[in-house]
Amino acid sequence: MKYSIIGAGIGGLTTGLAFEKKGIDYQIFERFTNLSEVGAGIWLSPNALQVLDYLNVLDAVKNQGNSIERITIGKPDLSPISDNPQGLIRKMFGYSSIAIHRAALQKILIDKVPKDKISLGQDFKSLRTISEDKVEVAFENDSRVMTDFVIGADGINSKVRNQIFPNSQLRYTGQTCWRGVAEIELTPDFDHRVYELWGDQIRFGFSRISKGKYYWFAVALDKANGKDDKIKLREKLLNMFSAFHSTVIELIKATPNDKIIRSDINDLKPMKNWYKGNIGLIGDAGHATTPNMGQGGAQAIEDAYYLSNLIPNSPNGNAFKAFEAKRRKKVNLIVSQSWMTGKVAHWKYGRGIRNFILKSIPKNLMNKKMIEMYQIEKYNS
Ligand SMILES: Cc1cc2nc3c(=O)[nH]c(=O)nc-3n(C[C@H](O)[C@H](O)[C@H](O)COP(=O)(O)OP(=O)(O)OC[C@H]3O[C@@H](n4cnc5c(N)ncnc54)[C@H](O)[C@@H]3O)c2cc1C
Repeated sequence: MKYSIIGAGIGGLTTGLAFEKKGIDYQIFERFTNLSEVGAGIWLSPNALQVLDYLNVLDAVKNQGNSIERITIGKPDLSPISDNPQGLIRKMFGYSSIAIHRAALQKILIDKVPKDKISLGQDFKSLRTISEDKVEVAFENDSRVMTDFVIGADGINSKVRNQIFPNSQLRYTGQTCWRGVAEIELTPDFDHRVYELWGDQIRFGFSRISKGKYYWFAVALDKANGKDDKIKLREKLLNMFSAFHSTVIELIKATPNDKIIRSDINDLKPMKNWYKGNIGLIGDAGHATTPNMGQGGAQAIEDAYYLSNLIPNSPNGNAFKAFEAKRRKKVNLIVSQSWMTGKVAHWKYGRGIRNFILKSIPKNLMNKKMIEMYQIEKYNS
């Protein structure tokens, strides 16, 4: 087999679909035996949507998700600090962002990948370079495969990365995030909006993902690896956000305790390289970013697109060097801007100045930055 993809997350599955399109031989290996209910919601920005369109899954994503026509960063009472209607973006790209349940997105992708191309219950353990063009991949169940190339798409805690770059470092932001999906309908003016509300070192974001379902996240400063008393979790969040608009309270109340997920916000310190020989990394495995710009998944999806388009023109099919050269600038910019956004959002002092600066950023500059981020190169398919 030519390419072994480790991990059937957003990056691994979209790479499978992109390889199908190009007729590239591959197999995906995923540690879990079942890939059904995962996570809460996700926002898919126009760069991701262009690739999903190219992969012929955009209609399904549109049908099961909810389009976002306005993105507002606001104060806890919902009053806007920075308000961004998405009309120009829609006009330029044909769509604005889409909010969708992660489980729905994953199902759409899995259903499109041929069944025999995903090996479930294969927990990657280690790899061994046999020769210049052969790698042996071993799994925890002692099975092994011989492959020409390995693509580590195994997420932020990537074992593939740890094996080829043992000195890679995750960076904890000092911020923890709780995510949930509330079973609720709000008034129609919330239907196609994203709100992110910045309070006193805490923030809360939400948007509708489908009929009767709202995705929300809450972020606060905390030590790493903290734990919650599950039974009292909702109460804790209700206390934390008691000064926020009643909509925030309604959303938390409409989410069962056991449906709230806690994750520390980490990213990966940018690495010099994303590959070693015929072993390469994509998505969070290679360049995990903080979620502040909603771009981690989108960048994994872009990776799939570029890698699959570079392979056919690369010597012996090794496109990792060209891929890294193509992707590094944009990805590193997103990682650093996203890190900075997270810090600014939780500033302890000078919140008034922060809000004033954010409010004063000219709309056309904001649009220019967004358009640059959302653009992808076109290839002849
Ligand atoms: C709070 C939060 C909010 C976010 N919001 C957004 C957003 O709105 N928009 C956006 O674009 N991005 C968002 N992201 C980022 C996004 O979730 C990630 O960037 C994206 O999931 C990365 O995709 P991936 O395929 O690289 O990794 P993952 O999606 O993590 O997939 C990795 C896969 O590899 C598998 N795996 C792991 N180890 C092994 C192993 N040893 N053997 C075999 N398989 C293995 C896992 O089971 C999993 O299926 C957010 C992230 C967080 C934390």
